[in-house]
Amino acid sequence: MSHIIVVGAGQAGASLVAKLRGLGHSGGLTLIGAETAPPYQRPPLSKAYLLGEMEQERLYLRPESFYADHDIQLRLGQPVTSIDTAAQTVTLGEETLAFDQLALTTGSVPRRLPAAIGGDLRNVFTVRTLADVDAMRSVMTKGACVLIVGGGYIGLEAAAVASKMGLDVSLVEMADRILQRVAAPETSDYFRALHAGHGVDLREGTGLSRLTGDESVCGAVLSDGTELAVDMVIVGVGISPDDALAAAAGLQSDNGIAVDEMGRTSAPGVWAAGDCASLPYRGHRIRLESVQNAIDQAEAVAANMLGAKTPYVPKPWFWSDQYDVKLQIAGLNTGYTRVVTRPEATGQAVSHWYYAGDRLLAVDAMNAPRAYMLGKRLIEAGTSPDPEAVSDPGTDLKALMRG
Ligand code: FAD
Repeated sequence: MSHIIVVGAGQAGASLVAKLRGLGHSGGLTLIGAETAPPYQRPPLSKAYLLGEMEQERLYLRPESFYADHDIQLRLGQPVTSIDTAAQTVTLGEETLAFDQLALTTGSVPRRLPAAIGGDLRNVFTVRTLADVDAMRSVMTKGACVLIVGGGYIGLEAAAVASKMGLDVSLVEMADRILQRVAAPETSDYFRALHAGHGVDLREGTGLSRLTGDESVCGAVLSDGTELAVDMVIVGVGISPDDALAAAAGLQSDNGIAVDEMGRTSAPGVWAAGDCASLPYRGHRIRLESVQNAIDQAEAVAANMLGAKTPYVPKPWFWSDQYDVKLQIAGLNTGYTRVVTRPEATGQAVSHWYYAGDRLLAVDAMNAPRAYMLGKRLIEAGTSPDPEAVSDPGTDLKALMRG
């Protein structure tokens, strides 16, 4: 009977094996993970879990019994070290396992600061795994000075948590503005003001030159020459797809493991999904770093592994929690030419609508769940409401659905 191996026991891997069983795959099924914890959700790592408001078990995507109950061999703490696509085997430790089909859901790895500028000093952390966060929590004590490097979502969420915990928070962003890679200036302005209001010392257009300290970090020299005393550093400078295993096996890579719209890699019988996969989208390749994509793409791949032949079309959405603000994003803003702001009745609530010409691409909604929900429905329906109507708080958004 056919044996499917899934390498990478994270969000996508867990979704993939559950879907395979749900769709009736009755052959062998093995999920292999390098980490020791059962598959868990990462978003709380920079939010409630970092804040100490969530137990570890609540991060788990499924109860531990789920895997045995569904006859899924869960192999944890055992990284796969090589794949032989011709022999259809994977190696972990001394062991070689044979597969009929293989799915790679290896996720991504955080970029680190080079050792040459102090990146390997003690108390310099990334935020990717449970182990990362467990290690940093003992240093995150009230009054400690933390430097956050990088003003993307992870850095900003970490800044919000640290500020709530009473740390003295500085954040440097090398680009001209925070969130530059992912959002319009209007959204950057919103979050800059939010953090400033909570006492975060936020410096844009400022890089980190080097960290200082003997064993543990104790200082930072910024690109403008400023010196800061620091007790810890949190690095949020982006991630790279974890495609090393796939590349070593000869699979095609293109900013991630290259897959087609079905999720097939360049090797027969080998599939990929989640953060590690680069997929075709509107004439080019993209890689999506989100829970939505990890689940939906993995489920599509599961169906296709069983013969569905259904192309995966992402319906991107994302969220971020900072202080008492929930940001919800629908769509992808790539190629936008104009941003329309829609104020809401309550103070902090607002949404920014991205257009390319007359076409609605994406919505950033801050404490505006209705704008998010209707924006998402409009985008998925391919309906682009008149920007002037959107910007008028008197316009009933629901009426826009009717065109
Ligand atoms: P992962 O969940 O990273 O799983 C990959 C797994 O594969 C890892 O456990 C890894 O150890 C394992 N692996 C790698 N190589 C091997 C190997 N050779 N052998 C065995 N195992 C291997 N997304 C949102 O949509 N909203 C958010 O608010 C949000 N917040 C986030 C906050 C943080 C701190 C982080 C880190 C991520 C956040 N994300 C958020 C992103 C989201 O968590 C990821 O997009 C999602 O986890 C991707 O799932 P994945 O299965 O592709 O990768």
